[in-house]
Amino acid sequence: MPSVRPRLVAAVLATTVGLGSLTAVAPPATARASTPSPGGGSAGDPLFPSMGNSGYQVRHYAIRLAFAPRTGRIDAATSVFARTTHPLSSYSLDLQGLHVRSVRVDGHPARFERHGHKLVVTPRRPVRGRFTTSVAYAGRPTTHIDPDGSSEGWVPTDDGATVVSEPVGAMTWFPDNNTPRDKATFAVRVTAPSRLAVAGNGELVRRRSQAGRTTWTWRQGHRMATYLAMVSIGRYSVHHSTMRTTTGRRLPVWSFVDPRYGSQAAVRRLVPRAVRFLERRYGRYPFSSTGVVIDRVGVGYALETQNRPVFDGAPDAVTVVHELAHQWYGDSVTLTRWTDLWLHEGFATYSEDLWNAVHGGPSPARAFRERYDANPASSSLWSPAPARFSDPADMFGAPVYERGAMTLQVLRERIGTSDFFAVMRRWAAAHHEGHGTTAQLVALAERVSGQDLGPLFHDWLYVPARPSGY
Ligand SMILES: [Zn+2]
Repeated sequence: MPSVRPRLVAAVLATTVGLGSLTAVAPPATARASTPSPGGGSAGDPLFPSMGNSGYQVRHYAIRLAFAPRTGRIDAATSVFARTTHPLSSYSLDLQGLHVRSVRVDGHPARFERHGHKLVVTPRRPVRGRFTTSVAYAGRPTTHIDPDGSSEGWVPTDDGATVVSEPVGAMTWFPDNNTPRDKATFAVRVTAPSRLAVAGNGELVRRRSQAGRTTWTWRQGHRMATYLAMVSIGRYSVHHSTMRTTTGRRLPVWSFVDPRYGSQAAVRRLVPRAVRFLERRYGRYPFSSTGVVIDRVGVGYALETQNRPVFDGAPDAVTVVHELAHQWYGDSVTLTRWTDLWLHEGFATYSEDLWNAVHGGPSPARAFRERYDANPASSSLWSPAPARFSDPADMFGAPVYERGAMTLQVLRERIGTSDFFAVMRRWAAAHHEGHGTTAQLVALAERVSGQDLGPLFHDWLYVPARPSGY
């Protein structure tokens, strides 16, 4: 639930974002199936046109890094296992800052150039099909700073460092295809002084100590967007337990608590309760472990990093529910372009409403009414529209979160509670560990309900005005 105002990109391409207008990213016109060409230096997102590369899909990232707390430096190597979408004579990865020592492609030294955050790699021979890029690099990672001064990516803390990367900060600590369109599995191995602990995504598969340093190996076997990749290094109390899901599945729980916030026992007890609460509404928890990271980060927001959300300080219950709800909506089912962010934030905000309703708060219908009545037509809640905006600074505003949640309540009242939760469950199941677009959600809701819902979604998501008649 970041409140960052991402870097404003001058070359905003398209504002004609609407139902069913998802444009596939095509290779450059010169690319033919058999002729090697440079991979397109963009994944095609109108809000972040310089991010990503359409010439390949990553299958797996293997990241190794050693962290020196005294200097804040890392010494790192990342291997990117990918598959071309067409033969590539060269291609780019995204990497902001850091000194690149060498690049190898399938074991052979390769030429590389830095252009801003683009690391352009020219292999000895064109690559086609599967290929592996290994980058050795070092330095003090830079935090990605947004125009309003908020921070993302690699963030130094007073006892280590923490990564929170929505939307584009992942490139501050490893070379990547920095777009949520390209999800991959991860193995992350971090070495730090043994007095520090290292949190990561997925499951802890190994912890080995030698000569006062400990190496932590985390494996993420579920495909993950780069912005959800996290490490957090610091003085932590580490809590390992297991919980039972509603289907009786045993789920490992790893939580990391900065002792300056006490033991956070109440939050740690809340995690299994909230996971089961959400499972009863949305279906099976999508991943293989859970937990929380509670740290003094200093960024002023929490983030739904996969498996294990990061909280900047002790969170309240609804914030925990919000970030855990993202495990279904955002982490497992991920947008393909950032203007669909309401598919993450509207759903997580609505999950807060569901939680509040059974914990002494207003019903979702009442919450809707209060938001609607408290915001006159001139309120910033109504403009820009939640799913039609061209300024990345509008990503984390009230329309995406609150009007997004209101859209779900309007849908629920139109199609009924039973069909509504059928839509929520089928959305999570059908797009599990994949992607979803607004057009696909509308189509699903229409199939489940048998109703024409185009006008409803149009009024609530694409018109920069307060919908009338509610
Ligand atoms: Zn959120």
